[in-house]
Amino acid sequence: MQACQYCGKPYVWFEKELFSGVQKRLLKVQVPACKCIEEREKQQEHQIKMHNIAEKQARLFENSLMTDLFKDKTFENLLKAENLLKYNNAPTIHKCQEYARQFKPKESYGIQMIGNPGTAKTTLLAAICNELIRKNYSCLFTTLSNLIDKFAIYSYEHAGNITPLLNWLTTFDYVVLDDIGRETYSDKRKELVFRIVDTLLNNKVVTAFSANPECITKLKSIPELNAVIDRLKDMCRISLEFKGESFRGR
Ligand SMILES: [Zn+2]
Repeated sequence: MQACQYCGKPYVWFEKELFSGVQKRLLKVQVPACKCIEEREKQQEHQIKMHNIAEKQARLFENSLMTDLFKDKTFENLLKAENLLKYNNAPTIHKCQEYARQFKPKESYGIQMIGNPGTAKTTLLAAICNELIRKNYSCLFTTLSNLIDKFAIYSYEHAGNITPLLNWLTTFDYVVLDDIGRETYSDKRKELVFRIVDTLLNNKVVTAFSANPECITKLKSIPELNAVIDRLKDMCRISLEFKGESFRGR
């Protein structure tokens, strides 16, 4: 008698009537008396599913351009007691967590985080991105400076045609421009910022940015960028201000 290779339980005989009437025949086969094989198949199916999810998450994380440094900037980690003490900003963390929970591509308002350096603006934006990636949304996390560089190089290599790269921008559900206003501006770079913001706005890509108050003042003092910054601020209607001193080095 055959037995289950996993639990050792002997198989049982199973009889089935193949044809009825005159040609009636009985089929007699050995079948498992346990659910081991079924359960293994279910388990394997589950493993494949989890593997695919993990792969998709890894791809979304890679596409986001976030560095590994930001991988553990999750709400779960920020809300741990020792970090709460460090950031001293539980209400804002909860606000951002609620934002990520209710996030809808093309519909949600953007966020602007204004405050001095080292007041957790970047950390919170990273936490929102991590949460959205966990929910399978595609995010881009970059500084405006890096983004302009990327566009400038692309423009140089493609005879000024940046349309494909602008289209790439529109594939994201959420775009974070971290620490704006630190860039240096040539006429070419002013034009690139205009087209980047214009594309995000026209395609309803939910956008967030962070900046120091002085950087906003600086950007607004550049005549060609004044209107661009107003449009960006209009997109990012949820405004969070960080008045606290820097926690870095504390
Ligand atoms: Zn078994």
